[in-house]
Amino acid sequence: MSKPYLDIKKNFPVLNRTFDGKPLIYLDTAATSQKPAVVIDAMDRFYRESYGTVRRGVYRLSEKATQAYEGTRHKVANLINAASDREIIYTRGCTESLNLVAYSWGRTFLKPGDEIILSQIEHHANIVPWQIVRDMSGAVIKTIPCDDHGQLLLDEYRKLLSPKTKVVAVNHVSNALGTINPVKEMARLAHEVGAVVVVDGAQSISHMRVDVQDLGADFYAFSSHKMFGPTGAGILYGRYDLLEKMLPFQGGGDMIRQVTFERTTLQVPPHRFEAGTPSIVEVLGLGVAVDYLQTVGLENIEAHEHALLEYGTKLLSEIPGLHLIGTAAKKSGILGFALDGIHPHDIGTLLDMEGIAIRAGHHCAQPTMERFGVPATARASLGPYNTESDLDALAAGIRKIQGMFHH
Ligand code: PMP
Repeated sequence: MSKPYLDIKKNFPVLNRTFDGKPLIYLDTAATSQKPAVVIDAMDRFYRESYGTVRRGVYRLSEKATQAYEGTRHKVANLINAASDREIIYTRGCTESLNLVAYSWGRTFLKPGDEIILSQIEHHANIVPWQIVRDMSGAVIKTIPCDDHGQLLLDEYRKLLSPKTKVVAVNHVSNALGTINPVKEMARLAHEVGAVVVVDGAQSISHMRVDVQDLGADFYAFSSHKMFGPTGAGILYGRYDLLEKMLPFQGGGDMIRQVTFERTTLQVPPHRFEAGTPSIVEVLGLGVAVDYLQTVGLENIEAHEHALLEYGTKLLSEIPGLHLIGTAAKKSGILGFALDGIHPHDIGTLLDMEGIAIRAGHHCAQPTMERFGVPATARASLGPYNTESDLDALAAGIRKIQGMFHH
């Protein structure tokens, strides 16, 4: 049977290396993706030939750097179908993007008694900032429960919604379970009660075609490092009419029009939310990563990872004593599992001896772990560079560990 597989491992230098003579099998893309040579080379070249500050230089080096920097904004707007480049805010990562919305939007709009709705299967980055603004504002947090497969219970969600609901913040894809949440339907329902919708897109942005307008996301947050770009850069998309009304997140250079000790007037978005010298080279690298994603094609990546997910799910399901955690009907390439009698950390450490990199832990989603009654899981997560043979190696590695423990 021919499957819609990509053949792009060769584009990623680190994936050609070995550990103790064994080829690296990288299955931790949900934590961070590897980088293609085009991104590494572009950043190296930029430092060698074109590096300068952005936004305030009068010399050519700085003008060029500013062009490249603003060019990424346009590429990102295109990638997610934002209505305008002005809706793209640069941050240091998804965590900072979510904190930005919580503080800026929350401080501007939340009042005592207002309700914030989160799901039970959020990353801590989409929980803790909301707890902080809850405590500052007197608002209340409510959570949408999930079923045993890790699918949100939409009937329960509907019951939580009311005119008191001011914001619904939910991940597009759960990093611990792989569930693809029905964010378009959830956004439609949230808008009916006048709430604002914040989507944590950390696990979706490089795995499927995202259209923020079609989804009805008022805010959409993600990190460069999970989409083949460098660390230290991230994006917050925000609807312009909302951004215009929001208080700043951080104060400093570039986010102001004029400053006196008596009074400061603010820049318009997105610059209002971009205080200080930004991650110039990282933003440049993100732009190249977006080009790479577009060249490979989000539809192709989605088809590739879906075929691999089905292959891996079948392989792991055949292993006695292995329990998949996260079995939603609509799933992204994340395989969370537990093995009878073997701690996830031992699984991770022993697989590493085979050259296989997976994540073991609570995945910054302790409420999700609590829902499934486990302190931690082992998690193999897929990228477009993975292959069936990576999953064969994973399954063989797991069986080998079981043999060590049970004989
Ligand atoms: N949300 C989700 C669903 C994630 O998986 C992650 C990263 N593990 C984050 C938010 C935070 O992203 P970052 O650490 O890049 O800021």
